[in-house]
Amino acid sequence: VPQDFPIFTKNRLLDSLPREEYERLQPYLKPLFLEVKQELYEPNKPIEFVYFPLDGVYSLLSLTSKGDLVEVATVGNEGMVGLPVFLGAKHIPGLAIAQVPGDVLQMRTEDFKAQVTHDTTLYDVLHRYTQALFNLISQTALCNRVHSIEQRCCRWLLLTRDRVEADEFSLTHEFLSQMLGVRRAGVSEVAARLQNAGFISYRYGKITILDRSGLEATSCECYELIKMDFDRLISDNNHTD
Ligand SMILES: [Zn+2]
Repeated sequence: VPQDFPIFTKNRLLDSLPREEYERLQPYLKPLFLEVKQELYEPNKPIEFVYFPLDGVYSLLSLTSKGDLVEVATVGNEGMVGLPVFLGAKHIPGLAIAQVPGDVLQMRTEDFKAQVTHDTTLYDVLHRYTQALFNLISQTALCNRVHSIEQRCCRWLLLTRDRVEADEFSLTHEFLSQMLGVRRAGVSEVAARLQNAGFISYRYGKITILDRSGLEATSCECYELIKMDFDRLISDNNHTD
């Protein structure tokens, strides 16, 4: 059945579901605002909720025994935080935190498991989302190894911009360095260069994107590849069934 009724949650996975299915899930979805650094799940602790972001950016992180954190992926309104639950894990070694604060729809793990059965559209969508996220993580691993800090920084800013659907968002150097897996000094240097080029302005912990095409020209190919992959995930869903 083609999508007859637009549903405006702002989460692209939920918005791609047939209306009846979304309405069935709705009573289990609780709107919440997540503050910066708020944890969505903690390392090796039971994952109690899954989250469908409406805006904001949520970071999936790996950590060392000393507590050094590196981002392995981000999730925005194109996805869901809590895939381990979908894949049958009760807990994982990594953690998820809010990177850019925002609104989410939260669902209890028990409700998710009871509602998202194999005959639902969301089940199929999440299968494809799992692959898209796996692609993102693979592409990021490659990017971190072969592309410059400047290219990676542009990639990150562009992806974040798409996810928050705004040219301005709050961000600290500390976070950006975790996200890119580089030292803070390296990030400050690159941010200054992008600022001098007129691509961004960066003050008081707020980033404003001034020249998107400048960032696109400076970014490595990874931005376009990741973006196309998620766009395909959503459009495949709207054109099947
Ligand atoms: Zn790259």
